Formats: sequence, C-alpha cells, structure tokens
Amino acid sequence: LSERLSGVFDRLTKQGALSEDDVKTALREVRVALLEADVSLPVAREFVKKVQDQATGQAVTRSVTPGQQVVKIVHDALVDTLTGEEDPGKLKIDNPPAPVLMVGLQGGGKTTTTAKLAKRLKEKEGKRVLMASLDVYRPAAMDQLAVLGAQIGVDTLPIVPGQKPVDIAKRAKQQATMGGYDVYMLDTAGRLQIDEVLMQEVEDVRDVVKPRETLLVVDGLTGQVAVEVAEEFDRKIGISGVVLTRMDGDGRGGAALSMRAVTGKPIRFVGLGEKMDALETFEPERIAGRILGMGDIVSLVEKAQETIEAEQAERMMRRFKKGQFNMNDLKMQLEQMMKMGGMESIMSMMPGMGKMAKQVQEAGFDDKVIRQQVALINSMTKKERANPQILQASRKKRIAAGAGMEVSDLNKLLKMQRQMSDVMKKMGKMGKGGMLKQAMR
Ligand code: GDP
Ligand code: MG
Repeated sequence: LSERLSGVFDRLTKQGALSEDDVKTALREVRVALLEADVSLPVAREFVKKVQDQATGQAVTRSVTPGQQVVKIVHDALVDTLTGEEDPGKLKIDNPPAPVLMVGLQGGGKTTTTAKLAKRLKEKEGKRVLMASLDVYRPAAMDQLAVLGAQIGVDTLPIVPGQKPVDIAKRAKQQATMGGYDVYMLDTAGRLQIDEVLMQEVEDVRDVVKPRETLLVVDGLTGQVAVEVAEEFDRKIGISGVVLTRMDGDGRGGAALSMRAVTGKPIRFVGLGEKMDALETFEPERIAGRILGMGDIVSLVEKAQETIEAEQAERMMRRFKKGQFNMNDLKMQLEQMMKMGGMESIMSMMPGMGKMAKQVQEAGFDDKVIRQQVALINSMTKKERANPQILQASRKKRIAAGAGMEVSDLNKLLKMQRQMSDVMKKMGKMGKGGMLKQAMR
C-alpha cells in the first residue's frame, strides 16, 4: 500500500509543473484584472512579466488548476511588491516636538486624515498632538480642522487671520515646543492641480520646520492621477509615505501597486470613510486581494496546499507508527528540515533523538550536506528508495556517481536511515507515535 501511495505522490509532483502555456493563459486574465483595478499599464505589464518568469516550472498543487495556481503566485508577488521594510503604522516621531507635514491636492482628504492620524497618535501611542491648518485660502478649512480637533479632543493652533503659511508653521513649532507636545501636524493647503505657487509654499514650510514625516494624502480612486501627483510631490518636496483615502469606495485600489512600483514610497495608511476612526494601517495582504479580485481562488489554493501538507504528515505518522522509514521518508524529512532551518533544532525536539541530534551536530551537518543527501536519494530508483537494504556494491557505485559523490557518503546516509528506522520501530512499539506527532507540529 505504501508503495502505491508514494507512487501516486511521485506522479503528482512530476506532471504537476506549470508549463509556459498554462502561465501565459492565466496571466492574460490577471493582466485584465490588474488593469480593471486601475493599475497603470506599464506597471501591470512589468509586473506580469516578472511573475511569468517566476511561475513557469513551479509545481501545481493537487486539486487546483494551473490557472488557479498562477493566481496564487500573482497574489504572493503582489503582497511582496506592496510590502516594504518599514512598519507602515509606525511614524517617526522621536525628539519632541516632531513635525509631521501633510501634503496633497485639494479634496484628497488632508484635513480629515490629519485629524484621524492625530486621534490615532493620541489614543494608540499616548502622544500629545497639536494640529495647525496652513490653509489660508479657504477660511472654512481652518475652521474645519478646529471643529475636528474639538471633536477628537486634540488641540489646534489658535487661528490668527492674515498670517502666511510659513509664519503659521513657525508659530506652531513654537507653541508645540513651549506647550510640551510630542507631535505637531501641519495641514497644508491644496489646489485642484499641482501648481508652482503651491509647491513653493510647501517647500518653504518644509525648510522652516524640517518635518520628520511628510505624508502625501491622495484619493485612492483617482488611479493614475494619484501616481503622477505622488511623483511630482516626491520630486519637489520629498515624501516619506503615502496615505490612500476613499478606499471604502468601489475602487479596487490598483493605485497602491502603481504608487509603490513607480515611487518606491511606502503606503502607510488607508482611509476607509469620513468618520474619525476610519483610518487603518496599510495591509499588503488586504490590498493585494482587492486588486486581484480573486480572493476565492487564492484561499482555495492555500487550503489545498495546507490539506496536502497535513495529508503528508498524516501518512508519515502512520508509517512511523508501523516502524517504517525508508529513503522516501528520509528525503521528505530532509526537505522539511531545509525548510524549517536546521536539523539539530528539529531532531532535538523529537523524543529519543537527542543523541542523534548531537551526532549530527558533531558531523557538521548543515544545509549543504542535506542537499547532498537529497541528491543521493534522488539518484536512487523507486525500488531502491523503498527498500534501501537491497543496495549492494554496484548499485551503490551507480548512485554515488549519479549524485557526484563518494560511496562513503552514501554509506553514511544509509547508516542514518537505518538508525532512524530503528528509532521509529522502537517508538512504534512504545506507542509513542502521539508524542512524535506532537513534536513535529
Ligand atoms: P482636503 O481638501 O485634502 O483637506 O480634503 P478633506 O479632508 O477636506 O476631505 C474632502 C472630503 O473627503 C471630505 O468630505 C471628507 O469627509 C472626505 N474623505 C476624506 N477621507 C475619506 C475617506 O477615506 N473615505 C471617504 N469616503 N471620504 C473621505
Ligand atoms: Mg483641507
């Protein structure tokens, strides 16, 4: 029975690799999904090309189609692209008072986001925050921030009519220093389009306060426009991050991918509504799912992969309990070890294997050795793997040569397999399978 089972498994891994055609067909759909999600054409094209190389030749998980598998690969690549080294939710606000400059076009959501962020800093990080509006063009804008401040219990800089933005910024800095605030947030004026006067004004403010963070607030529904705005602001002002607003709308959020791909700037937060707590830390997983719009497929593939891993473990446990441990088992173990990082750590977790773990350590058993051992097993026939006891001199020579190793190396491997098989037999008799199973989890 075990022979038949391992046969099935072999067949699966062999025929289940993604062909170039599978990948191409699936990626055509993915490209459409990306464009529909408002990812810019060059970014979508570049991305699909990258994934194509990555995906071809990869194994297909049983019970999913190649197309589904490609979708999962694309999803993972999206998450990868959207994930930066920084922690998006953590603003650099040391050395109080830390200036945070909020920039962007008019109507993008700057004022709202300034207040949302202030609330978050206050409630989640216990910061003392001062907000100031530099929007001298629309009197209502200053009132808007004051009203929001009162609503969330965050101080705003008193309004002095007739002051220029740079002077308000200086006043905010002064007040923040004297008042012992941790952070002061400057909500700048926006225009409907990028213009020189606006940029100059923001540059002047930047030079006066030297912000620790300069956050660009853009409407996530505006797609390509948002990306152009980000590029322009980054060139002129230098931004440290992006907040995408209106992500509660129907848009699929493709701007996030374009933004990251084109500017390389991290997306820090997303706005999910008009209310003061409708602001969340940017989560690559969530946006990736939304951009692709194929969440069902992604979770299907994940589930299939989990099921197979669980089945494999089950099957191995059954064999171990019976005291069976051939080269196929050893290979699986070795591969598992490579994945999980280090043989010693795993063996020392397994009951009865502490001694072997020590031997392994003494033998200088590292990843390279494990790879060589897998190569040796790969160069055995199916029959030899299932019954390693049939190996005599000529077979041994052939196998070692096939893996580019010495017969003495193969003998070491065989010894190891025998030892493990003995341990399994003993444990099977002791009925400790349960413990082993636990240790392997
Ligand atoms: P500003 O001109 O950049 O300061 O933009 P505002 O902060 O005044 O926002 C303009 C409008 O967009 C207001 O009506 C906000 O309530 C709304 N808004 C801001 N952020 C979001 C968001 O994430 N979702 C939704 N649905 N509306 C938002
Ligand atoms: Mg405003």
